[in-house]
Amino acid sequence: MRNLDKLPIPEVLNDNWIQWTEQYKSDKTSATKKYRYRHSDIKSTLVEETKSKCAYCESKIGHNTPGDVEHKTPSSVNIDLHFDWTNLTIACTECNRRKLTYFDAQKPFLDPYDGDVENRVIHLGPVVGWQPGDEPAEISVRTLELHDNSRAGLIKRKIEAIDHLNNLVARYHQVDGVMKELLLLSIQKLKSKEAEYSGMLKAVCDNYGI
Ligand SMILES: [Zn+2]
Repeated sequence: MRNLDKLPIPEVLNDNWIQWTEQYKSDKTSATKKYRYRHSDIKSTLVEETKSKCAYCESKIGHNTPGDVEHKTPSSVNIDLHFDWTNLTIACTECNRRKLTYFDAQKPFLDPYDGDVENRVIHLGPVVGWQPGDEPAEISVRTLELHDNSRAGLIKRKIEAIDHLNNLVARYHQVDGVMKELLLLSIQKLKSKEAEYSGMLKAVCDNYGI
């Protein structure tokens, strides 16, 4: 999980969210009225601000890992936030399915847009943990099962990412000059916010002192 910054609200949402909310509230059976947040301008802006990744597990959204617009506070809890720009992000199907309608005002889910979530979760290799005593972080990790065998596919992809990083680091220590600089650039790219699983890879790099 990385800290994320909200981009400006897309024009189509800014112009319409109030009436869209009213229309959806008056007819909740209409898929057309419900899914207007899937508008291409809205989704593309969300994909841009999450760097094309799930806001929770950092999987790249694509053919292998489908993703969709996610309501941080579920609409079933507060329908007025159904088209609220600050309530929307991107989550992969696997995280979305696990989070479902979780909401507890006293024990809020980690919000990548609010505060320093990067220091609240701990990367134990491909498994995610939490700072001792940080209940919202523990609840989020346990709910998303980011520490669990049920996410075997995710953990396997994260191990492959660590393996790739390990190979780069090993070569980095064997070479000099331009090649060393190029390998360092490749390593830095893997821990940049744009990269898949960069929170974990950044932690691995910290362990290596790179
Ligand atoms: Zn995810």
